[in-house]
Amino acid sequence: MAKLTPMMQQYMDIKEKYKDTILFFRLGDFYEMFFDDAITASKELEITLTSRDCGKGKKAPMCGVPFHSADSYIAKLVEKGYKVAICEQIEDPAKAKGIVKRDVVRIITPGTITDLNILDEKSNNYLCCLYIDDIGVGISYVDISTGDLYTTEIHKTQRDLFSSLMDELSKIQPTEIIANSNFFNYSELVKDIENRFNTFINRYYDWAFDIDTSEETIKNQLKVISLEGYGLKSKNHSIVSTGALIEYVKETQKIALEHINSIKNYTINKYMMMDISTRRNLELTETIRGKSKKGSLLWLLDKTSTAMGGRLLKRWIEEPLIDSSEINKRLDAVDELTNNLLLMDEIKGLLDKVYDIERLMGKVVYGSCNARDLISLKNSISVLPSLKSSLSIVNSQVLNHIHNELDTLEDIHKLIDASILDDPPVTIKEGGIIKSGYNIELDELREASNKGKEWLSKLQESERSRTGIKKLKVGYNKVFGYYIEVTKSYLDLVPENYTRKQTLANSERYITPELKEMEAKILGAEERSMNLEYELFVKIRDSIRAQLKRIQKTAKTIATIDVLNSLAQVAYKNNYVKPKLNNNGVVDIKEGRHPVVEKMLNGELFIPNDTLLNNNDNRISIITGPNMAGKSTYMRQVALIVLMAHIGSFVPATEANIAIVDKIFTRVGASDDLSQGQSTFMVEMSEVANILNNATKNSLLILDEIGRGTSTYDGLSIAKAVVEFISDKYKLGAKTLFATHYHELTELENRVEGVKNYRILVKEEGDDIVFLRKIVSGGANRSYGIEVAKLAGVPNQVIERAKEILKELEEKNLNRDNIAVTKQEVVEENKQSSSIEEEAQSSNYQLNLFSMKQNDIIKKLKDIDPMQLTPLDSLNILYKLSQEA
Ligand code: ADP
Repeated sequence: MAKLTPMMQQYMDIKEKYKDTILFFRLGDFYEMFFDDAITASKELEITLTSRDCGKGKKAPMCGVPFHSADSYIAKLVEKGYKVAICEQIEDPAKAKGIVKRDVVRIITPGTITDLNILDEKSNNYLCCLYIDDIGVGISYVDISTGDLYTTEIHKTQRDLFSSLMDELSKIQPTEIIANSNFFNYSELVKDIENRFNTFINRYYDWAFDIDTSEETIKNQLKVISLEGYGLKSKNHSIVSTGALIEYVKETQKIALEHINSIKNYTINKYMMMDISTRRNLELTETIRGKSKKGSLLWLLDKTSTAMGGRLLKRWIEEPLIDSSEINKRLDAVDELTNNLLLMDEIKGLLDKVYDIERLMGKVVYGSCNARDLISLKNSISVLPSLKSSLSIVNSQVLNHIHNELDTLEDIHKLIDASILDDPPVTIKEGGIIKSGYNIELDELREASNKGKEWLSKLQESERSRTGIKKLKVGYNKVFGYYIEVTKSYLDLVPENYTRKQTLANSERYITPELKEMEAKILGAEERSMNLEYELFVKIRDSIRAQLKRIQKTAKTIATIDVLNSLAQVAYKNNYVKPKLNNNGVVDIKEGRHPVVEKMLNGELFIPNDTLLNNNDNRISIITGPNMAGKSTYMRQVALIVLMAHIGSFVPATEANIAIVDKIFTRVGASDDLSQGQSTFMVEMSEVANILNNATKNSLLILDEIGRGTSTYDGLSIAKAVVEFISDKYKLGAKTLFATHYHELTELENRVEGVKNYRILVKEEGDDIVFLRKIVSGGANRSYGIEVAKLAGVPNQVIERAKEILKELEEKNLNRDNIAVTKQEVVEENKQSSSIEEEAQSSNYQLNLFSMKQNDIIKKLKDIDPMQLTPLDSLNILYKLSQEA
């Protein structure tokens, strides 16, 4: 290899250590990239690829970005999954002997972004570490912008390991995952995670996943001598994944992240379990279509004032509690706030002034905070005394605790208030930050420089009168410093002690020894005061950093009161009611509403409906009704009301008694797994399998249209078998809402214990139907598919033709002799009648084949007015009917 230039040699040495990154190599005001990095970056960032001599006439591909706008370029690369290593000059170029020393100061990856312009303020950005072995998996995750670190572990005995892991990940939504090499042996799992989550997965060194190493790493990070206080004793999976996670953070961030100073260790069954599709179907944090926050439960409940509250609310929604006393504590607090509107408003008004203290402290730890950040911190802290005194009247346990525990951080407020100017600049090295009166030396330096400037302004006057040069001016520029300027017409009046320094088109500039003397004084004082200001700023920042734990605790307290107050505002504004909780399996909702749909109806009234589910007669509600009647809205409404109660929120109803539910499962509509090459039916059935295998009698199941994706009889058989299985106390016995188009399922009410039929009312008006949205007891017997198609705007010709086909089908069916009624007969029928079934399918035939004949006869009977009939007419009609039957 040709001999490289010294700088290129330095680059190569550093790059060797950071092979898997794109190296941003600082040269003056630019970050330059070379070789393959340059080729990749120029493509990804759409910047020009050039080249640079790298020794012996060889050229290296090169591209670069200005350092002051590097953040957006870095963000772009990181979003695409690259790691970016930032290599800086680590000594003063002026003092360097030979080539300036450089080294990587930080590696930025998707999970370690701290740039607040990129992060969503109301979401955490989690970096996750997985450690998987034959027994289980350790899951640890951290948000390095806030310092929040969590860990849990799942063992093989606790249901299917992989689906539990997927469920947990769907809650965490990590932007980056690192894992041990064994994890990559499960290639299907890895693929699944990559497909489902917007995340990047990388292998991390196996040595980092060693139990002893990990334990040491954690102890060092938390500055403790034992992990028992965190409940981690014998939680080896958690210890290993946490240790490796911290190691990775240290390796990439290169500094001690003091704000990561605690671990929240939890077991997954502390919270209500919901699988990925349930979280998506219930649109907890984003809508299914469009993936927007608007329209989600989070959007509805989020009236938080602070970013910290916003993040905590998201977490509460993702982690509903299942301990009724914990939930009641939250509910009581919300109750107290809704009963004291003045207090609610007062808290909101105060919290509106609070900045993102958690992430501000992240910046303090990184050393990247400026004086403006400290002013934000001060302004946030300044509301705390009022907040505390507002809360002095509260009674509920949680609010009372918040009142007692709230540290108002007056010392920190005092420090910033005494030292930092109210409107400081963004830069911290150019002065203008520190208040006068804070530091004597600084005051003196400023005084000296002010005095000098005064002297200068007087100098102009005195020199004008001494020399008689009327337009003589004292000025300043960066290259020559202070000077005296004389226009050309006055040159003959220039005194002897002036030394010419610069000639311009119309004037000459001069200096004098006194002027230079004063200049040295002024500039010296200014430079020293700038340096001193910086030193003072760093000292102030450090003393704030020393109070990190207290500030973090206050931030968490603010987040909690913010969330409770947000829940109270939503409850009050929307007329929600405080749910009662029970452990007897009763879900009894009076006049329940769908919290999001009722907000989205443009002026239309939302029709409330009751719900009763229990462990006895009302375990399963079979819900029939035409498309668009409101079946899925109703079922989701029940799931959301139950879920909201578990979060500690009031619910949209006039009365609600809600059983503690361990898991909610939903099987609703087509899921987006279709993109992964599975058929709709296959996806549906695997979701059903997951539900039947994992639900317990304390779970709530929402099943919409099970069995629709296959032939009618197959589907019907599966649907019936599923209902029978769920309703059986000895098999499952879970509380279930089951919407179906198979009206045949309604016969289960009489046959299977715990099953009740419901239908959503519609009114026929001639050829049209009107949706009444009211749920009542009993099963529907028509689907009104054609009427709904008409409403949807299907062309009239098609509608008319559909009616003809439907009529033909009805007649054909009426002419058949043996009509299957029982389950056994359905199976038989299935074998024999594939032609009918195909016709039925192709025309979207939805009518109940079995009850048609009876309905028709009943309809004819109803049309008869016996009082108007002669005995002969009656006989004729009877004869006709007996022929039809
Ligand atoms: P289905 O599942 O029976 O096909 P949906 O639940 O999707 O019907 O409801 C269709 C639409 O009807 C919803 O988008 C909503 O706008 C409206 N809707 C449903 N339930 C109600 C209700 N209780 N009150 C008012 N409008 C409702």
